[in-house]
Amino acid sequence: MSDTQKEKVRCLIIGSGPAGYTAAIYASRANLSPVLYEGIQPGGQLTTTTDVENFPGYPEGVTGMELMEDLKKQAARFGADIRVGIATKTDLSEAPYKVTIDGEKEIETEALIIATGATARYLGLPDEQKYAGMGVSACATCDGFFYRKKVVAVVGGGDTACEEALYLSGLAKKVYLIVRKPHLRASKVMQARVLGTENIEVLFEHETLGLFGENGVEGAYLVKFRGKHEEEQVSIAIDGFFLAIGHNPNAEVFKPWIETDEAGYIKTHAGTPRTNIPGVFAAGDVADPLYRQAITAAGSGCAAAIETERYLVEHGK
Ligand code: NDP
Repeated sequence: MSDTQKEKVRCLIIGSGPAGYTAAIYASRANLSPVLYEGIQPGGQLTTTTDVENFPGYPEGVTGMELMEDLKKQAARFGADIRVGIATKTDLSEAPYKVTIDGEKEIETEALIIATGATARYLGLPDEQKYAGMGVSACATCDGFFYRKKVVAVVGGGDTACEEALYLSGLAKKVYLIVRKPHLRASKVMQARVLGTENIEVLFEHETLGLFGENGVEGAYLVKFRGKHEEEQVSIAIDGFFLAIGHNPNAEVFKPWIETDEAGYIKTHAGTPRTNIPGVFAAGDVADPLYRQAITAAGSGCAAAIETERYLVEHGK
């Protein structure tokens, strides 16, 4: 590796969602000269949603794209060095920590903020792409409001799916919960709530084959009892199709060093962004299986930058 391919920095941030950019705003205002790599999806998951109406400070709402552009500009205004690139390898065995970008450039950093987010799981149907932003969503809290008094379907049988179905049941006229097994995986209390809600209909042993509609989702094709002798195809009329089959935290590249839980989320010390490695912090969805909101991600990005500043001062870096 040539010298031009090596660089030393004080604070490296990986990821450009609300957590990464907020960390960059705070770190640059604290004179840490942060370098931020945008990662796999510049702007993060919010760039795939349409209107964001629950981020404080935007009384009229804002598009996900605009919000991320604003955060990026705000970070750049204070001098954050924002670059395109993906972390492909890490060596966090000792400080300074080494992160390889795009397989070729090695950054040595005194402190690292991991804000790589999580990726919602999709079923893998071509129609999910076709109707992206036109009735297909992986976030009921973000998009549910647009389906007031309409009919929607949620896919999944875990706590998230139940939570999303319950949330949507307060807005929509009717909610179908499409569950591939004959039972729910969610906790008993969530199951009881879902089964006791009048406008939620659980379709056990149903799988989605595709979606249809002229200018957006108008319905879904399902298969009932797949592989059994009573297998049949059915269709339901819906206006919105919500995926709630889990998220994959983007923590793979840090895993040899960083402790994660069974689902792959980075473990942090209760109420802080501290990981098992001093000077390495995790913010946003990569460490949050519970809330996954732009505002909670931004808050933890702020905390990670404050922790970084304290760590660097304490260690004389
Ligand atoms: P889970 O992994 O618990 O559940 C995923 C669900 O999606 C399962 O029902 C699974 O079906 C289904 N699924 C997966 N792939 C497919 C597919 N290809 N087609 C159809 N269905 C599919 O994920 P969650 O996001 O629900 O929860 C993650 C963690 O977070 C859990 O530990 C959960 O308890 C926790 N959580 C807690 C909450 C709370 O306490 N308030 C709220 C939300 C989450 P199957 O059962 O057949 O595998």
